[in-house]
Amino acid sequence: MRRNFKAISKFLFLSGISVVCTVLIYRLLSNKPKNGNSLNDLFARRKALGPEEVLILSSEKIDWHNYDLIELDSKRQGPGEQGKPAFLSTNEMNNYEKLYKVNGFNAALSDKIAIDRSVPDIRHEGCKTKKYLKQLPSVSVVVPFHNEHWTTLLRTAHSVVKRSPPELLKEVILVDDASTKEFSKKPLDDYLSANLSKVRAIHLPERSGLIRARLAGAREAIADVLIFLDSHTEANINWLPPLLEPIAQDYKTCVCPFIDVIQYETLEYRAQDEGARGAFDWEFFYKRLPLLPEDLAHPTEPFKSPIMAGGLFAISAKFFWELGGYDEGLDIWGGEQYELSFKIWQCGGQMYDAPCSRVGHIYRKYAPFPNPGKGDFVGRNYKRVAEVWMDEYAEYLYMRRPRYKFIDSGDLTKQKAIRKELNCKPFKWFMEKVAFDLPLKYPPIEPDDFGSGEIRNVGAPELCVDAGYKDRDSVLQVAKCVKGTSKKSDQNFTLTWHKDIRVCGKSLCFDISDPNDKADVTLFPCHGMKGNQYWKYDMEKQWFLHGANNRCLDCDPGKMKLYVRSCDDSSKTQKWRLENVNLTMIANWENIGTA
Ligand code: UDP
Ligand code: MN
Repeated sequence: MRRNFKAISKFLFLSGISVVCTVLIYRLLSNKPKNGNSLNDLFARRKALGPEEVLILSSEKIDWHNYDLIELDSKRQGPGEQGKPAFLSTNEMNNYEKLYKVNGFNAALSDKIAIDRSVPDIRHEGCKTKKYLKQLPSVSVVVPFHNEHWTTLLRTAHSVVKRSPPELLKEVILVDDASTKEFSKKPLDDYLSANLSKVRAIHLPERSGLIRARLAGAREAIADVLIFLDSHTEANINWLPPLLEPIAQDYKTCVCPFIDVIQYETLEYRAQDEGARGAFDWEFFYKRLPLLPEDLAHPTEPFKSPIMAGGLFAISAKFFWELGGYDEGLDIWGGEQYELSFKIWQCGGQMYDAPCSRVGHIYRKYAPFPNPGKGDFVGRNYKRVAEVWMDEYAEYLYMRRPRYKFIDSGDLTKQKAIRKELNCKPFKWFMEKVAFDLPLKYPPIEPDDFGSGEIRNVGAPELCVDAGYKDRDSVLQVAKCVKGTSKKSDQNFTLTWHKDIRVCGKSLCFDISDPNDKADVTLFPCHGMKGNQYWKYDMEKQWFLHGANNRCLDCDPGKMKLYVRSCDDSSKTQKWRLENVNLTMIANWENIGTA
């Protein structure tokens, strides 16, 4: 009895401990994000699908690399293998022109390259040893296509199937947006059922545009996470886990891969750059902002990005549909990346770029399809997005494109209702918290220039900087000042708020790439990115200072040469008079355009 009591109390004691531990371990491992969107929510839907779907409780991480595949791929040889540039021989040029015209890239060369070619592993070294959650959500890949060339379309599908862990990839849905190429119908269906069991095509009866085609695919998708790709892409090594882990940790997350460049002529696979944060200017051109110091400090970690590039991203189906998917009123293409990005951020989500996930994309040489005769559908799309999401900031768009004011944007009731229902934040919040450095680089209202007019030398006051007389192409000189004479002037310049010096009326900037003393000043297309084109005017000393290493604009009056030299207080030829100076702007120098 006593023994029994002892045994029972020991049992109770141990069970108590194990209950407490279980609860603690559960809490620790369930990795519940701050905003309460636990994995359980995400997987509740999935649980209904079948008994093999388990609740995610584990934070165990594993190495997801498929080393057998990496090994096999590394041995492959042939045209375009390892992402090397490839070429057609002279007797293979028959279809070159014809296929180029309808695709905007070298489609004839694509036919020569293996449909499952190897790509170079150009990830950051740190990505190669990175581990990801063992339990990740399942994936439906959605690829809209309109008249895609058959081998680039199939290479997209093959690369996804080949480089995705089979247990994560549920399906690939190719959405045929009313293509007219013969291959897009039965031959495609037959090819897929014979060769790629996870891939199927759905055929839209009429041209719907990429936005509605993506929506059509997403509606068919059955997995937890939707991944959208363009129809001429190639997924790189271990591309999936880095996209999925942030979503597994918080379902209100959208993750974009790094987009590599597949060169349109040679189909070479190479990096675009080392990453940047997505943005826009006030004409809605897609732009990029520099990484933040904390992003640079962790080069393999996903970093926050205000705006997605558009074509390639992963998002949980749950969140996508909570946001109402895309606005179905958006026609064909244009503005959809802004709509979704604003929605994600303003309505409680977040967006990341994952440096360890890379997907190559053929950037076309030119757009091959004629736009369907639908008038200014892009303007109409932009206006829909601006009206629903941008509040008072929409004005900045209309200032630059006054005709938008008169475009009929159609019925916005449904979109506005979504914004209200989800209690989404104002655009001001997005600008201040997410795209906080955007206005510095792309000011909503363009600041005035710092100064303009002739740039006259103090040491040799008859001489001015002159963009007309050159003994070498694009090298600037000094010449006799022509102000007040009848001679056509090439001596008119602007020190712009971008902190570059432009030739008046042209988009050419004073540029120096040579770090040496007496480096020439050349004219180069303006990029607005400072660096080689950065100039500062010091009113007091009358110096034009170049770049970060403080060299001063100077000239040799004898040889009429213009160059930069290290600054010297006693030099008179280093002093210049800028004809019209905006004193208020100059006084405010440090606060203008510093991103
Ligand atoms: N697309 C589509 N319907 C259209 C236009 C484009 O399905 O009306 C597809 C296209 O085949 C591609 C994706 O949408 O897979 C993005 O278009 P595209 O590659 O032409 O844009 P880009 O990358 O050149 O900006
Ligand atoms: Mn594309």
